[in-house]
Amino acid sequence: MKYPKLRELKEAIISLFSKPYTLPYPKGEFKPFTGYRGKPVVDEDNCVGCETCANVCPPNAIVFSDNTETGIRTITRDYGQCIFCGQCEEHCITGKGVKLSDELFDLSCLDRSVLVEKQERELILCDNCNAIITTRDHMRFIYDKLGPIAYSSVLNLSMLNQRLKITKSDDTDLEITDELRRKNVFNVLCPNCNRKVQVKILS
Ligand code: SF4
Ligand code: SF4
Repeated sequence: MKYPKLRELKEAIISLFSKPYTLPYPKGEFKPFTGYRGKPVVDEDNCVGCETCANVCPPNAIVFSDNTETGIRTITRDYGQCIFCGQCEEHCITGKGVKLSDELFDLSCLDRSVLVEKQERELILCDNCNAIITTRDHMRFIYDKLGPIAYSSVLNLSMLNQRLKITKSDDTDLEITDELRRKNVFNVLCPNCNRKVQVKILS
């Protein structure tokens, strides 16, 4: 039989009289330390559905799907795949759309589907080709950030017209029929269609 080394014996005796290094959770209360990175929590009022967090999420725990029929973007966050790296919080364009909380161990579950959250945001689509421009909340965030300068963009002016109902959406003068015309500069157009109209205006 081998005898324990003196160093190991000393450590065993010390640990008998010292406090445990591990937390008693889940038997006891979990007290997160400063800078603890737990489950990301979305702030619905400050998330504009811009896609940035999905682009920086290393394990693809955040994915987006756009439906041009319904005009809805669905953001799916699967916290079963999250590695709590904090990239989504760090790169969020509003700075408040998602924050890491101090929940972590409470994510333990038997049914992984309970860890999936979904959000929906309205899309802005091109009146001509139905291409996705961005979400309406994202565009509003840009207005607020830029102030009046935002209206130097013809797209934003057309959206302002639409919002203030200066032109009606069913206005036959603005209807895009077979091809884009100069008057269609007042429609909500994607950059590609807008470029075609601008070329017509200049020619
Ligand atoms: S980056 Fe921020 S605002 Fe954009 S979708 Fe993610 S949480 Fe929302
Ligand atoms: S913390 Fe990291 S892994 Fe988790 S959702 Fe955010 S970016 Fe993705």
